[in-house]
Amino acid sequence: MVDADTPREFAFELALCAHLEESTEWIVGRQLGAAVERSGRRIADVVGIVPGPDFERRARITDRTIPVRAVESAVGVGERVPRNRVVRDSEELHESVVDAAVEAGFFATERRGGREYLRQTTRYPEGWFRGLVGIENKPDLGEPGALGRQLRTDVSLGLFEEVILATASHVTRAHLNRIPDEVGVWRFDLENGAREVIREAIPLSTGGPGVELVAERPLRTEVALVDSDAKERARTRVAERAYGKGWRTYDLPACAHAAATPDGRPYCAQFDRVVDPGRTCGAGCRAHDPGARPDVDGDELRDERTPWRRDPAGVVRRQSGLDRFR
Ligand code: SF4
Repeated sequence: MVDADTPREFAFELALCAHLEESTEWIVGRQLGAAVERSGRRIADVVGIVPGPDFERRARITDRTIPVRAVESAVGVGERVPRNRVVRDSEELHESVVDAAVEAGFFATERRGGREYLRQTTRYPEGWFRGLVGIENKPDLGEPGALGRQLRTDVSLGLFEEVILATASHVTRAHLNRIPDEVGVWRFDLENGAREVIREAIPLSTGGPGVELVAERPLRTEVALVDSDAKERARTRVAERAYGKGWRTYDLPACAHAAATPDGRPYCAQFDRVVDPGRTCGAGCRAHDPGARPDVDGDELRDERTPWRRDPAGVVRRQSGLDRFR
């Protein structure tokens, strides 16, 4: 899965995210690292988190990403541990991870006798998501690129309960024959936001080991066996990133022609379409007319429209992050 690399793919992806936000209870994120070995090696276009029984407990902790390395660290709930020691003894709990966990309110810090101590503010709610849906966007099936290989990799890895191909194209029997049977297929019309299920996905088993493509060279493909623990960890990482990041990851254009759709997508009145501010707008656009960015609060929209909660009270008072400086 590659970054939405044309304005049309970007507009398609955002329209699909907006549609899923409206038509499901999922938390929707886009452009997320979704490989187990090296998460950045595989980018999922869209990920849907299906909330689980502990969702409210998770939402109460923070609206940000909780680092998985903090969840798995030796910092527990009941007892304070010296920050220096726990960072020194761990290969994974770097200072930046501790800072992110403190910022998120998942770790609290405290100073005693000149030393800084850490503790978890609450137990991590393991069952906060019930499933993950990974969606590959390919608006034009006439330019499939590496689509078949990507989808086969997704199925053999089994990181998502469901893998979906979303397209704007008319889907033929020949198209369906080129992709694994487990992959569901949606036809999505970005103009009117209508989604037609061409084929249901066959749920994948995420609990066991999987096979991941790690490198491709001429005449040789390297794969790695991924055990179930590594996979579970990667699933939590993807879910946390989707929760913290969401899909409105762009700044609206600072242009007099810019506006926003009611669901917060960047719209250009001059060209009468949704645009990709990072690629289409700015000095390179012949119609660019410097102006104020449209006043849109993406977090407010997300809070109103999804189970994600903006700035929850947290499980400790927010000021706890300041304790370390006392
Ligand atoms: S920079 Fe160009 S594409 Fe972007 S909003 Fe302005 S006129 Fe439209």
